[in-house]
Parts: sequence; C-alpha cells; structure tokens
Amino acid sequence: MPVRLPMAEAQEAAAIRAALAEVVGPAHVLAGADADPHLSDWRKRFTGTALAVVRPGSTEEVAQLVRLAAQRSLAVVPQGGNTGLCGGATPDAGNRNLVLLTTRLSRVRSIDPLNNTMVIEAGVPLLRAQDAAREAGRLFPLSLAAEGSATIGGNLSTNAGGTQVLRYGNARELCLGLEVVTAEGEIWSGLNALRKNNTGYDLRDLFIGAEGTLGIITAACVKLFPLPRSTGTALVGLNNVDQALRLLDLAQQHAASTLTGFELFSDFCLQLVEQHLPRLRSPFAASHAWYVLIELSNHQDANATNAMLEDLLGAALDARLIDDAVIAQSTAQASELWALRESISEAQAAEGKNIKHDISVPISRIAEFVRETNAQLAQRFPGVRMVIFGHLGDGNLHYNVSAPGFGSGLDDGGFIARQPEVYETVHDQVHRFGGSISAEHGIGQLKRAELPRYKSPVEMALMRRIKQALDPDHRMNPGKVLD
Ligand code: FAD
Ligand code: ZN
Repeated sequence: MPVRLPMAEAQEAAAIRAALAEVVGPAHVLAGADADPHLSDWRKRFTGTALAVVRPGSTEEVAQLVRLAAQRSLAVVPQGGNTGLCGGATPDAGNRNLVLLTTRLSRVRSIDPLNNTMVIEAGVPLLRAQDAAREAGRLFPLSLAAEGSATIGGNLSTNAGGTQVLRYGNARELCLGLEVVTAEGEIWSGLNALRKNNTGYDLRDLFIGAEGTLGIITAACVKLFPLPRSTGTALVGLNNVDQALRLLDLAQQHAASTLTGFELFSDFCLQLVEQHLPRLRSPFAASHAWYVLIELSNHQDANATNAMLEDLLGAALDARLIDDAVIAQSTAQASELWALRESISEAQAAEGKNIKHDISVPISRIAEFVRETNAQLAQRFPGVRMVIFGHLGDGNLHYNVSAPGFGSGLDDGGFIARQPEVYETVHDQVHRFGGSISAEHGIGQLKRAELPRYKSPVEMALMRRIKQALDPDHRMNPGKVLD
C-alpha cells in the first residue's frame, strides 16, 4: 500500500531516499511494489510501512546508513531472508522506518580448514554457507527447513535451532566471533576465530538472539566440523510420547554423539502432509499414534552406521518401545523420510489458520506436558486439532493448534481472535513446567506482550537496561522483543 504523505513529509521522504541512494546507489533503494515483499512477514500476519527498503553492499555502507538514520531520526529494521516466524523483520505502521536488507552482504570471506572456521557475511543464505563448508571438506551443521532463504545474520539474530542442535548446538554455540554495526553507526570488528577468549563481557552473546534490537550483524566467524563419512536414517512408529522419551534414552546409550537427529511428530501431522502434499507418502502400511525420525551421523563407513542403527532398533523392539520401523536404504530414501518431517509446516498452512507455539520444557517432562496441555485445550476450545512436532532431543516442540475442522461453527478468523486465550493456556503450562515460551523462533512482535508475563521483573529490567545502553534512542528495530 503506498503511504499518502502531506507535502512537507513527501519532500522530506524524497530527500531521505536521495541521501540513501548516495550511499548504496539508486538501484538499491527500493520503494513501491519492489519494497512490498519486505513489508510483510512470511506468515502474512504482520504488515508495516517503510520510507524505503535499502540494500547495502558492504559493512561500511551499513554503517553509513545507520548514521544517516540517526541524523534523520529513522528506525532501522534489519531483514535477511524474511523467513522469521514472529514478525521480527517487519516494520511497524510508522512513517519513519527504514528496512535494511542484508542480502547483498553475500560473500564467504574466508575458510580456515585447520582452525575449522569460516567467516561469512550476514546475507549469505544458510544453504550456501553449508555448501561452502562442504566444498572445503567441512560440515557447517546448522540446518532448518527455510535454509534456502534464511540468512546467517537472521540465524544468529534469532539464535536459530533446527534439526542438528542435539549434536552441534544452536546458532549461538556455532558462532565464535561477530562483526556488528552499532546503533551509533560504529563498526565493531569482533571476528575472532578463538575457542577460548576470556577478556571481559561477551558482547557477541548480546547480539546473538537480539533480533536486530541492539545492532546489525554484518559478518560472523562460525565453527566447522569434520564431514561425517556416513549417515543412517530411520523412521519408527510408536504409541505415545513416553515411549519416544525412553527411545531417546536408548538411542543416546547406543549411539552417543553419533545421534544427530531425533524428531517427533504425531499421526495427525503425517495425515496433513499426505493430504496436502500427495507426492509424499508414509512408508508404513498401518498408522501409528506417533513417529520418530532418527538420524545417526558417523565417522565410520555406511555398514558400521547401519549396523548401529539396526542394533538400536532391535533393542527398541525387544523393549517394546516401538511398533514398526523403516531404515532408509539410500540417500534418496533418507530425503523422503526427512521430507515428511520438514513438510509439516507447509501442510499445516495449507490446512488453514493455526496458532503456533514454539516451546521447550525439560526433556524428561515433555510427555506429561503434552498430556496435560492437550486436555486443557480440548476442554477450553472444543474441537481444536493439535499439530505437534519438533525436536524431541532438545526438549523443543512446535506445539501448534489448528482451528477446529469444517462444521465446528468456529471459522479461521474466529479461532485466531482467540489467540490470546490459547497462548495463555499453553504458555502458563510451559511456565509451570519450567519451560520457555520461545525455544527457537524468538519474540519479535508476535510474542512481545507475553514476555513480561513469564520473565521476572528483575530480568525484564536488566534487558531494558542493556537496550538503553546500546541503543539509547530506540532506533534499532523498535517494538520488537521489548516495547
Ligand atoms: P529474518 O526473518 O529476515 O529476520 C529475523 C530476525 O532477525 C528479525 O528480527 C530481523 O530484524 C533480525 N535480523 C535479520 N538479519 C539481521 C542482521 N544481519 N543483523 C541483525 N538483525 C537481523 N527457525 C529455527 O530456529 N528452527 C527451525 O527449524 C526453523 N524452521 C523454519 C521452517 C520454515 C518453513 C520457516 C519459514 C521458518 C523456520 N524457522 C526456523 C524460522 C526462521 O527460518 C529462522 O528464524 C531464521 O533464522 C530467520 O532467518 P532470516 O534470514 O529469514 O531472518
Ligand atoms: Zn523447529
């Protein structure tokens, strides 16, 4: 939607765009239809406005833009791949927003195989970072379904998780150093490649997970790992989440750090995938209440990995933890099994509106959490359909609630209007179980109002003081995380 501005404002906006164009070149100041895709979030839940969307081509240009924003009193909203799920990269409806798109910060600056590190710019898509590492004979293990578009800067700013956290940790644990443009427009070159560095406050950890509210990450030094020689993938069917937890324990005993993936999903998730993506099919003849996708990554050959997987599944059958299992016989079959898990979000979106919760609780309490919370939701919102999947090995579930089906009398819009009540039910439970209301996706604008409910006043005050110290004019991504 074009913004209608009074004359003086329109003149000022034109002057600002001209000043921006002097920094990045006119081709990289987007307005009108070119800017539109950057003004809404991936789920189309939030839409905002901006004077311009700018695409800087270097760290120095980012710094110049931030200084210009300070002179002109503009808010700066950093955006990478715009795949975030909580509206963090979407500007508000104000008329002084600048969306700073990082996609031209796209260089892999260096790879040091012996040090097992790679320096990459913030706009590099995650998939390309993985490829660059592989070409150098190394593994960059961060992996998530949006990796074709999501950027390293976005991954670090949301402290992204994904499917390999169990073995390698989340984005924070994979990052050794950062280059950041501060809210003042200074460049902090903190790209150290050290595993050990105890020299005062850890500024890097402040910017990671800050969702662009403290500064702009322009580059990062990330950890690399040896490439596994083989992987083994299996899908098992089982009866309940308690069994899945006992299977996790067994898998850790059998496979230790070879276990790199342990993903849970319910039968309803699989049904949605089969219904909305007919090319994908369950490998089982009968259905099971729950499924777990297990992945082993090994530094021994494929025979050794398969033997380990067979051993584990044999023990699980003997212990009556699982009802059925398939082991992928090829890379293509492994990809098909992963596709079932990774297509759940897409299938759920095709089914209609849903309310997402991205929660974690201590792993040992997950089954109890699911049982109790399912019962509470069923009682308070009759007919809602639970779409439960996630990274069981990390205690993190995408505990999503879909609108009741056709004929329930509650349409999608009516259901979404009840989001605050659904949040309250689930998040109060999460809190009671000692969990987190955002394990992966962050707070953004979607969950900002929830935060003070569950964080102590002391923690909120400390966060506000950090924000005040690093961004006293509240110019960096205002309205996100904190109000
Ligand atoms: P954006 O959406 O552009 O931005 C996200 C936030 O980071 C915003 O607050 C933005 O202002 C800020 N930001 C972006 N770049 C910078 C920068 N350079 N400096 C400072 N701030 C910046 N997430 C997971 O953790 N695990 C998953 O498994 C997962 N699966 C997903 C699957 C799908 C299908 C989709 C659509 C999303 C998924 N996500 C997942 C969420 C999303 O992909 C991640 O949050 C990702 O890290 C966002 O990267 P991005 O480049 O798209 O960031
Ligand atoms: Zn996830």
